[in-house]
Amino acid sequence: MTALGIDYGGTHTKFLLVSQGGEELARETAPTGSIDELGDRVARFLASAPADAFGVTVAGTLDPATGIVGRSTNLPWLDGTAPAEVLSARLGIPGTAVQDGEAAALAEARLGAGRGSDDVFVLALGTGIAGAHVTRGSVRRGAHGAAGEVGHMRVATNGVVCSCGQLECLETAIGGHQLAARWAERGGAGADGATAVDVVRAAESGDESARAALDDAARALGRAILEVSALVDPELIVVGGGL
Ligand SMILES: [Zn+2]
Repeated sequence: MTALGIDYGGTHTKFLLVSQGGEELARETAPTGSIDELGDRVARFLASAPADAFGVTVAGTLDPATGIVGRSTNLPWLDGTAPAEVLSARLGIPGTAVQDGEAAALAEARLGAGRGSDDVFVLALGTGIAGAHVTRGSVRRGAHGAAGEVGHMRVATNGVVCSCGQLECLETAIGGHQLAARWAERGGAGADGATAVDVVRAAESGDESARAALDDAARALGRAILEVSALVDPELIVVGGGL
């Protein structure tokens, strides 16, 4: 029995094939494309590393009963679709969709930095900012599967409108390309194509505008963590993700 994990992220898509015992068998990273492009890429990957089943993450809200995506601000073509059903039909193996924050949170709580704690809040900093509260090994999803959408807490002070339509969400200060955009607005060298890595490198070499953008991001993240603490009082907060 082998299983394929597909992390369908806003910028990159990662494949990881594991044995039943959790041993890593193969892995690959590719740029994110449409669901059809994803199906083609997975089919090519599976040609040399077959899997019996797959799980795919969804960056957005997901109805766990139907597997249908409610809203994905970073992958809007998924809205109203059932990605696991589409991929399953293309690949001929069963699969399931999991909200990305939930997948990251369960992995951290069960296998990672939260192991041993019954009450963990996990933040995953990437293109979007995902979050989930894991108590006694399961995620508190909320009535609409949207609990823990920390990225859309209004904790920034930059006057920027978020992809969700609200003003000054956490994601406008720190999510994906937003950090580089805030750097560029302050006169930083981070024009087109700059990434969070460029901002951090510039800050480390003394660039004041990069430092200011990072300070703003850290302050917004700190406010979000304070509000999460006030609201759910977790035993442990784990901060992870590509950023
Ligand atoms: Zn937002």
